[in-house]
Amino acid sequence: MSTSAGQTTVPFSLPSFAAEVGDAVVKVLDSGWVTTGPQTAEFEQDFADFLGAEHVVAVASCTAAIELSLRALELPPGSAVLTPSLTFCGAINAILHAGHRPVLVDIDEDTLVPSPATVEAAAARARPAAMVVQNQAGYPVDVPALAGAAGLDRSRVVEDVAHGPGAARGGVPVGADSQAACFSFYATKNLPIGEGGAVATRDAAFAERVRSLRLHGMSKDSWRRYLPGGSWSYDVKKLGLKANMTDVQAAIGRAQLHALPEWQRRRAELAARYDEALRGLPGVVLPQRDLGDGVQHAWHLYQVRVPGREAVITELEKAGVSTSVHFIPAHQLTVYRDLLDDHELGPLPATDRVAEGLLSLPLYPRLGDAAQDRVVDALAGALRSRG
Ligand SMILES: *Cc1c(COP(=O)(O)O)cnc(C)c1O
Repeated sequence: MSTSAGQTTVPFSLPSFAAEVGDAVVKVLDSGWVTTGPQTAEFEQDFADFLGAEHVVAVASCTAAIELSLRALELPPGSAVLTPSLTFCGAINAILHAGHRPVLVDIDEDTLVPSPATVEAAAARARPAAMVVQNQAGYPVDVPALAGAAGLDRSRVVEDVAHGPGAARGGVPVGADSQAACFSFYATKNLPIGEGGAVATRDAAFAERVRSLRLHGMSKDSWRRYLPGGSWSYDVKKLGLKANMTDVQAAIGRAQLHALPEWQRRRAELAARYDEALRGLPGVVLPQRDLGDGVQHAWHLYQVRVPGREAVITELEKAGVSTSVHFIPAHQLTVYRDLLDDHELGPLPATDRVAEGLLSLPLYPRLGDAAQDRVVDALAGALRSRG
């Protein structure tokens, strides 16, 4: 694409694919087994090794991973489940589809994730049975602190880590020590497959429940029935979803995993370059994070806050720079205003204040230094032209 100035545009996101992906896909197609099977099992093991997790169950999406995790927790129907309002709609839908009630939590204005104080305030509005936390932009939340503030055991926390992998807290990779860490392999995410997701857990019985629920609730999937000694017989004990990962996706994921450390390194480098270039730019609030003490950011997004966001986005578009917004808070969206009660919707004063200025700048391994410099110049120009 070209702008009127004749320059190519800087897209908001471009997925990277490792060189071996093509061959890996052809091999699966030639193998005669394309749905969930041996490649999926290998991917689960490779991803578990990468995270240092005990069990990984690969699924169709992060949205499905969250819903399956909530179902596998076997909470009483209609349970209150805390979740930030500043998250992706799919994460809220997953709570509702699992038969529960989202109770929206405010954020800390600096880190853009809930704090123990905002969680405590939400828990006072409705006593939660579980909580979904979200690593906004890739910044790892302090799960034990937030669970404590909610009055919940850590085993009742589902972690939406669509913006990981690659993050760590206390030197422990996100997902290595979780009841349910839910990853996304959507096209724009750090480990792109196109579509896909996974649940990482330290709980073997929980992993088995998710494994069964991802394929209708069947006691054995077709690969396990097909293996030597397998039989045609199965039972369906719980109501599940059709949310399995295919071997085609898994083969892509395995090839992609080899490249992930290098991609994560480049993301961190680009984030540091943004920090350096944007520091001191009048009007811009840079992301604040406490990155001491073994905290590793996954750098899925680089979010700034700007005044007059709509005009800034238009100016950036004119300069050939595409941006995005993460997110429109759930309590501002029609369906949740229709479905949720007042005490579930808020109040969320910090989310309201922060959300109107949030702007996500391009950040992905294929973004070159020169293209990033164009983003910085365009942003500086857009803010200047506002006066
Ligand atoms: C992308 C995203 C999801 C959904 O991921 P899918 O794999 O597309 O279902 C969930 N939560 C957050 C925070 C996301 O950014």
